[in-house]
Amino acid sequence: MQYVSTRGGIAPVGFAEAVLMGLATDGGLLVPKHLPRIAPATLRAWSGLRFQDLALEVMGPFVGDEIPPEDLRGLIERAYACFSHPQVTPLVEVAGLRVLELFHGPTAAFKDVALQLLGNLFEYLLARDGGELNICGATSGDTGSAAIYGVRGKEHISIFMLHPRGRISPIQERQMTSVLDANVHNIAVRGSFDDAQRLVKALFNDLPFKSEFSLGAVNSINWARILAQMVYYFYAWAKLSKGDPARRVSFAVPTGNFGDVFAGYLARRMGLPIDRLVIATNRNDILVRFVHTGVYQVGEVHQTLSPAMDIQIASNFERYLYLLYDGDADAVRGLLEDLQRSGRLQVDATRHACVKVDFDAVSVSDPETLEQIQATYAASGYILCPHTAVGVKAGGSRGNLVCLATAHPAKFNEAIRLAIGHDAPLPLSLQGLMDQPARCVELDASADALKALIRSTLNAA
Ligand SMILES: *Cc1c(COP(=O)(O)O)cnc(C)c1O
Repeated sequence: MQYVSTRGGIAPVGFAEAVLMGLATDGGLLVPKHLPRIAPATLRAWSGLRFQDLALEVMGPFVGDEIPPEDLRGLIERAYACFSHPQVTPLVEVAGLRVLELFHGPTAAFKDVALQLLGNLFEYLLARDGGELNICGATSGDTGSAAIYGVRGKEHISIFMLHPRGRISPIQERQMTSVLDANVHNIAVRGSFDDAQRLVKALFNDLPFKSEFSLGAVNSINWARILAQMVYYFYAWAKLSKGDPARRVSFAVPTGNFGDVFAGYLARRMGLPIDRLVIATNRNDILVRFVHTGVYQVGEVHQTLSPAMDIQIASNFERYLYLLYDGDADAVRGLLEDLQRSGRLQVDATRHACVKVDFDAVSVSDPETLEQIQATYAASGYILCPHTAVGVKAGGSRGNLVCLATAHPAKFNEAIRLAIGHDAPLPLSLQGLMDQPARCVELDASADALKALIRSTLNAA
């Protein structure tokens, strides 16, 4: 399979290069040149597969002959061996609601599904093709811990993860700092999340430094993350439809960066019988406004009870634009220039009509989120995390609906207490966490200080 950039500025690359490149060198995002088409008979044949075997089938065509199937199988098996549920992403029924639990990985949020695999892919490709990778990122919550767990102890990879000191939840902080592997470096920045992000950007903008130290990112635009997330749409469909291609399923997807719902969109384009894809956002509703008006206009970021979705620029949106414009990279570049210049882009009326066919979109307020957590708990005793509650509320009474559960509720107990008056019980992976030893260095919010730290750490290794 070959990959091209949404901005048309690179020669096609293969899977391995696409994964290691992250962002395309022309500033665009990598997309597959063609989407494989899955026939109804194949869907039927896949419907009894284990998650891992289904993953091999779904991902195989996108990887092509660059990784032998037996090796890819090994990477997939190891990625999901550390999930605490034998079905990896079980579909559970809760008071007439179907919830796809994506939080059984080591950090109890859905990002594990992709980052466990991505860590294995990085290690495999670096061992085979040579080279090393030093991942650097800033986190305000879930991504940092999932990325650290994805690469801890892996060869040829180090990770430097910045967080704003004292400004993330104690559980999220300890999830990261209790990982003591030698290749994991937690950095508490004396400043805000934006300060931390600014330092990372400064690092990546220093091209000589970036290349001397082989810096890379694991942000949500990496193609392998989308690929891994497609699998659970196929899995949920198979469970619900029993493999009958005539049965269509709708999905409610809590989304911020447009990553998760975009994976579902691709699955539908590949032939998976998906009826409605519901984009569920909190008060940060740029995607909802876009679906309703055809105008994508950046606003202020609001803090909400579902903080992993407090995002205004949805980084995967560019991939959707590319497909919406049938691979017309010039059109995509033009639209993004509009966005850069004026904070706003607008698709034409024909395209806007397509958008409305592709997605439903609903924004859910904090009070509605709490009401939903409370109502589901009252009806069933099941506790939704606030992100999942946004999805459930947005999905409403649509038939054959699957709601994606993106985190374990115990990661967001402040919201849970507001809704139901007590905490959600901790899953096994979070028990005893606060008593574990931790390692972390503090740093002033200075790019020079960060560079010095990385230089001395890597030169000492
Ligand atoms: C990251 C995250 C989301 C949003 O996912 P996107 O890929 O940004 O759409 C939703 N819920 C939780 C718990 C998350 O960690």
